[in-house]
Amino acid sequence: MSLKPRKNPSTLVANLTSSAKFFAEEAIDNALSAKEKAEARWPLAIFHLVISLEHFSKALLAEQNAVFIHEVIDKPGKTTSLQKTFQRLTNRDIYGLNLSPKDMKRIETAVAYRNDVAHGTIGQNSKALEAKFFEIFAFLRDFLRYHLQIGADELASRDKIDDLLAVQKQISEIEKRAKESLEQHDVCWNCVECGKDFLVELDGKCICLFCHNDCNVIECDRCCQNFPEYEIYQTDEIFEWEFSEGRATLANDFGITEKFVCQICYSNIQKEAAERAYQDELDETWFYTSGILDARG
Ligand SMILES: [Zn+2]
Ligand SMILES: [Zn+2]
Repeated sequence: MSLKPRKNPSTLVANLTSSAKFFAEEAIDNALSAKEKAEARWPLAIFHLVISLEHFSKALLAEQNAVFIHEVIDKPGKTTSLQKTFQRLTNRDIYGLNLSPKDMKRIETAVAYRNDVAHGTIGQNSKALEAKFFEIFAFLRDFLRYHLQIGADELASRDKIDDLLAVQKQISEIEKRAKESLEQHDVCWNCVECGKDFLVELDGKCICLFCHNDCNVIECDRCCQNFPEYEIYQTDEIFEWEFSEGRATLANDFGITEKFVCQICYSNIQKEAAERAYQDELDETWFYTSGILDARG
């Protein structure tokens, strides 16, 4: 956290800031109408919010020096990506922003969500999108407060901000309930939809206690424990295959009989296969050299 005094804004900084505010207000409007009547607006809310974060962070970077927002500093034209903007802000010689690895990950997922919206590949789970919106919003709010000295009430009217925070409060209620239910489970996994560690096994399925995303359960062929399907790996990727005429034939399965395994068992099997391959090579060399020696008699 820091509350460094701000310099007088240049035109560039002022333009970036006002455009960032415009996108933030759009994001808030979309979030409120998504909550009230049109869930399909969550992707739009996220899209505008990430662009707002992008412009605000560039404003802070441009405040240090206008050339920093160029992808290549001495080449005006293409400007920095969101990740690059934050990378530069964390540079002590530029600004010295303190970002936790969790925040850096948040920025990466924010970019991924923005791209998914732009490419039409965003998921439609409204609870997950809502949670993601508030995760980015909470980050943006702190970033604005501590680094640009901008309060949330400068982004939209007080009423809108109050409505939004009421929604956020509902989310924390949902999260609180999910945490309570989680206590009845010994094992949980990370949910791919909402990114929270609330995925548990329930009645033969995996379900996220927060966003209700569900998926199949698969038993690991080696350790016999159950896992969500996306935590299961196929061992045939480790085997040796021969390709001819567009067909693959199994050349060596290293004696591995398990097909579907969990991540830990997969990496153990990988090691075993590598050792096996090494041993096979040694045996082959031994066979070859002993053959030569036998021939020499
Ligand atoms: Zn979830
Ligand atoms: Zn396993």
